[in-house]
Amino acid sequence: MGTGTQRNSNSPREETERSTPCIPVTYPHEEGLLSQIKGQYNNDPFYKKILDSPHGFKNFEVSEDGHIRLKLADRRVLCIPNLREGERRLQETIIDQAHSLLVHLGPRKALTYLKEYVWWESMTSDVQAFCNSCMTCQKSKPPTQKPYRLLNPLSVPSKPWEAIGVDFMGPLPESKDRNGRYDSITIIIDLLTAMVHLVPSRTDYTAKNIAELMYHEVY
Ligand SMILES: [Zn+2]
Repeated sequence: MGTGTQRNSNSPREETERSTPCIPVTYPHEEGLLSQIKGQYNNDPFYKKILDSPHGFKNFEVSEDGHIRLKLADRRVLCIPNLREGERRLQETIIDQAHSLLVHLGPRKALTYLKEYVWWESMTSDVQAFCNSCMTCQKSKPPTQKPYRLLNPLSVPSKPWEAIGVDFMGPLPESKDRNGRYDSITIIIDLLTAMVHLVPSRTDYTAKNIAELMYHEVY
Protein backbone atom coordinates (compact mmCIF):
# COMPACT_ATOMS: atom_id res chain seq x y z
CA MET A 1 0.00 0.00 0.00
CA GLY A 2 2.80 2.31 1.01
CA THR A 3 4.61 1.57 -2.24
CA GLY A 4 1.53 2.43 -4.25
CA THR A 5 1.18 5.79 -2.60
CA GLN A 6 4.82 6.53 -3.24
CA ARG A 7 4.57 5.64 -6.90
CA ASN A 8 1.53 7.89 -7.31
CA SER A 9 3.18 10.85 -5.70
CA ASN A 10 6.31 10.39 -7.81
CA SER A 11 4.56 10.32 -11.14
CA PRO A 12 3.62 14.01 -11.46
CA ARG A 13 7.09 15.06 -10.41
CA GLU A 14 8.71 12.85 -13.03
CA GLU A 15 6.40 14.38 -15.59
CA THR A 16 7.42 17.87 -14.56
CA GLU A 17 11.11 16.97 -14.73
CA ARG A 18 10.70 15.49 -18.18
CA SER A 19 8.83 18.51 -19.47
CA THR A 20 11.24 21.10 -18.00
CA PRO A 21 12.52 23.04 -21.00
CA CYS A 22 16.26 22.93 -21.51
CA ILE A 23 16.93 26.60 -20.93
CA PRO A 24 20.15 28.54 -21.24
CA VAL A 25 21.40 29.57 -17.79
CA THR A 26 22.36 33.19 -17.36
CA TYR A 27 25.76 33.80 -15.83
CA PRO A 28 25.73 36.77 -13.41
CA HIS A 29 28.24 38.70 -15.51
CA GLU A 30 26.84 37.41 -18.77
CA GLU A 31 25.92 40.67 -20.45
CA GLY A 32 29.48 41.94 -20.70
CA LEU A 33 30.73 38.45 -21.32
CA LEU A 34 28.50 37.84 -24.33
CA SER A 35 29.70 40.95 -26.09
CA GLN A 36 33.29 40.08 -25.24
CA ILE A 37 33.21 36.63 -26.77
CA LYS A 38 31.03 37.51 -29.74
CA GLY A 39 32.81 36.43 -32.91
CA GLN A 40 35.76 35.03 -30.92
CA TYR A 41 34.89 31.34 -31.24
CA ASN A 42 36.42 31.37 -34.71
CA ASN A 43 39.84 32.10 -33.21
CA ASP A 44 39.73 29.07 -30.94
CA PRO A 45 40.45 25.85 -32.89
CA PHE A 46 38.23 23.79 -30.58
CA TYR A 47 35.10 25.86 -31.24
CA LYS A 48 36.03 26.56 -34.87
CA LYS A 49 35.37 22.87 -35.60
CA ILE A 50 31.92 23.15 -33.99
CA LEU A 51 31.07 26.28 -35.97
CA ASP A 52 32.20 24.62 -39.20
CA SER A 53 29.92 21.61 -38.71
CA PRO A 54 27.41 22.25 -35.90
CA HIS A 55 25.50 19.04 -36.67
CA GLY A 56 28.56 16.92 -35.99
CA PHE A 57 28.65 18.01 -32.34
CA LYS A 58 25.46 16.85 -30.66
CA ASN A 59 26.51 18.12 -27.21
CA PHE A 60 26.85 21.68 -28.41
CA GLU A 61 24.35 24.17 -29.69
CA VAL A 62 25.13 27.22 -31.76
CA SER A 63 22.58 29.95 -31.18
CA GLU A 64 21.37 32.39 -33.82
CA ASP A 65 23.54 35.14 -32.41
CA GLY A 66 26.58 32.89 -32.81
CA HIS A 67 27.15 31.80 -29.20
CA ILE A 68 28.02 28.20 -28.45
CA ARG A 69 26.43 26.45 -25.49
CA LEU A 70 27.08 23.03 -24.01
CA LYS A 71 23.90 20.97 -23.65
CA LEU A 72 23.53 19.40 -20.21
CA ALA A 73 20.63 17.36 -18.84
CA ASP A 74 18.75 20.35 -17.43
CA ARG A 75 20.38 23.41 -18.90
CA ARG A 76 22.69 24.84 -21.49
CA VAL A 77 25.83 26.61 -20.36
CA LEU A 78 27.82 29.19 -22.25
CA CYS A 79 31.08 27.99 -23.78
CA ILE A 80 34.05 30.25 -23.15
CA PRO A 81 36.62 30.49 -25.93
CA ASN A 82 40.32 30.88 -25.31
CA LEU A 83 40.71 34.64 -25.44
CA ARG A 84 43.20 37.15 -24.09
CA GLU A 85 42.11 40.32 -22.34
CA GLY A 86 45.35 42.28 -22.19
CA GLU A 87 47.72 40.39 -19.89
CA ARG A 88 45.12 37.89 -18.78
CA ARG A 89 43.06 35.11 -20.29
CA LEU A 90 39.33 35.74 -20.20
CA GLN A 91 38.89 32.37 -18.49
CA GLU A 92 41.19 33.53 -15.71
CA THR A 93 39.06 36.64 -15.15
CA ILE A 94 35.95 34.45 -14.93
CA ILE A 95 37.60 32.16 -12.37
CA ASP A 96 38.80 35.20 -10.42
CA GLN A 97 35.26 36.62 -10.23
CA ALA A 98 33.83 33.32 -9.01
CA HIS A 99 36.65 32.67 -6.55
CA SER A 100 36.30 36.17 -5.03
CA LEU A 101 32.51 35.89 -4.92
CA LEU A 102 32.89 32.64 -2.96
CA VAL A 103 35.25 34.34 -0.51
CA HIS A 104 38.25 32.19 -1.50
CA LEU A 105 36.62 28.94 -0.40
CA GLY A 106 38.83 26.76 -2.58
CA PRO A 107 38.83 25.23 -6.06
CA ARG A 108 35.98 22.74 -5.54
CA LYS A 109 33.44 25.42 -4.63
CA ALA A 110 34.54 27.71 -7.44
CA LEU A 111 34.30 24.88 -9.96
CA THR A 112 30.84 23.78 -8.81
CA TYR A 113 29.64 27.36 -9.09
CA LEU A 114 31.17 27.97 -12.50
CA LYS A 115 29.87 24.70 -13.93
CA GLU A 116 26.38 26.00 -13.32
CA TYR A 117 26.90 28.73 -15.86
CA VAL A 118 29.88 28.27 -18.14
CA TRP A 119 32.08 25.62 -19.70
CA TRP A 120 35.45 25.25 -21.36
CA GLU A 121 37.55 22.18 -21.92
CA SER A 122 40.30 22.71 -19.34
CA MET A 123 38.18 24.45 -16.70
CA THR A 124 38.84 21.89 -13.95
CA SER A 125 42.62 22.16 -14.14
CA ASP A 126 42.44 25.93 -14.73
CA VAL A 127 40.35 26.51 -11.61
CA GLN A 128 42.67 24.27 -9.60
CA ALA A 129 45.77 26.11 -10.81
CA PHE A 130 44.22 29.53 -10.22
CA CYS A 131 43.17 28.76 -6.65
CA ASN A 132 46.51 27.14 -5.83
CA SER A 133 48.35 30.29 -6.87
CA CYS A 134 45.91 32.72 -5.22
CA MET A 135 47.90 35.01 -2.89
CA THR A 136 44.90 35.72 -0.65
CA CYS A 137 44.34 31.99 -0.08
CA GLN A 138 48.01 31.44 0.67
CA LYS A 139 48.09 34.28 3.21
CA SER A 140 45.00 33.05 5.03
CA LYS A 141 45.99 29.39 5.26
CA PRO A 142 45.47 28.08 8.81
CA PRO A 143 48.79 27.68 10.67
CA THR A 144 50.03 24.11 11.00
CA GLN A 145 52.24 24.91 13.99
CA LYS A 146 51.08 23.84 17.45
CA PRO A 147 49.85 26.80 19.53
CA TYR A 148 52.52 28.44 21.67
CA ARG A 149 52.49 27.48 25.34
CA LEU A 150 54.25 28.72 28.46
CA LEU A 151 57.97 28.07 28.60
CA ASN A 152 58.95 25.05 30.66
CA PRO A 153 62.28 26.02 32.26
CA LEU A 154 64.67 23.49 33.75
CA SER A 155 64.46 23.24 37.53
CA VAL A 156 67.24 25.05 39.42
CA PRO A 157 69.94 22.61 40.66
CA SER A 158 70.17 22.35 44.46
CA LYS A 159 73.99 22.19 44.60
CA PRO A 160 76.98 22.99 42.33
CA TRP A 161 77.85 20.39 39.68
CA GLU A 162 74.54 18.61 40.14
CA ALA A 163 73.60 19.62 36.59
CA ILE A 164 76.17 20.43 33.94
CA GLY A 165 76.43 21.41 30.28
CA VAL A 166 79.16 19.99 28.02
CA ASP A 167 80.39 21.34 24.71
CA PHE A 168 83.32 20.61 22.41
CA MET A 169 85.29 23.23 20.53
CA GLY A 170 87.52 22.18 17.66
CA PRO A 171 89.34 21.08 15.66
CA LEU A 172 91.91 23.71 16.69
CA PRO A 173 95.62 24.08 15.76
CA GLU A 174 97.50 21.34 17.58
CA SER A 175 99.20 22.11 20.89
CA LYS A 176 101.15 19.90 23.27
CA ASP A 177 102.33 19.63 26.86
CA ARG A 178 104.14 16.96 28.88
CA ASN A 179 101.02 14.71 28.76
CA GLY A 180 100.47 14.72 25.01
CA ARG A 181 99.01 16.55 22.03
CA TYR A 182 95.64 18.33 21.86
CA ASP A 183 93.49 19.73 19.05
CA SER A 184 90.25 20.68 20.85
CA ILE A 185 88.80 21.97 24.11
CA THR A 186 86.09 20.25 26.16
CA ILE A 187 83.99 22.86 27.93
CA ILE A 188 82.11 21.78 31.06
CA ILE A 189 79.85 24.33 32.73
CA ASP A 190 78.03 24.07 36.03
CA LEU A 191 74.43 25.11 35.48
CA LEU A 192 74.05 26.51 39.04
CA THR A 193 77.18 28.64 39.48
CA ALA A 194 78.18 28.96 35.79
CA MET A 195 81.70 27.87 36.76
CA VAL A 196 83.53 26.53 33.73
CA HIS A 197 86.24 23.92 33.18
CA LEU A 198 88.18 24.16 29.95
CA VAL A 199 90.00 20.88 29.36
CA PRO A 200 92.50 20.32 26.53
CA SER A 201 91.22 17.35 24.49
CA ARG A 202 91.41 15.59 21.14
CA THR A 203 88.71 15.43 18.48
CA ASP A 204 89.18 11.64 18.29
CA TYR A 205 88.23 11.05 21.94
CA THR A 206 85.62 8.36 22.44
CA ALA A 207 82.68 8.57 24.86
CA LYS A 208 84.74 6.51 27.33
CA ASN A 209 87.63 9.02 27.08
CA ILE A 210 85.21 11.91 27.74
CA ALA A 211 83.74 10.10 30.77
CA GLU A 212 87.24 9.57 32.18
CA LEU A 213 88.08 13.24 31.51
CA MET A 214 84.98 14.36 33.43
CA TYR A 215 85.76 12.24 36.47
CA HIS A 216 89.38 13.34 36.43
CA GLU A 217 88.76 17.08 35.89
CA VAL A 218 85.41 17.78 37.56
CA TYR A 219 84.18 15.11 39.97
ZN1 LIG B 1 41.90 32.71 -3.07
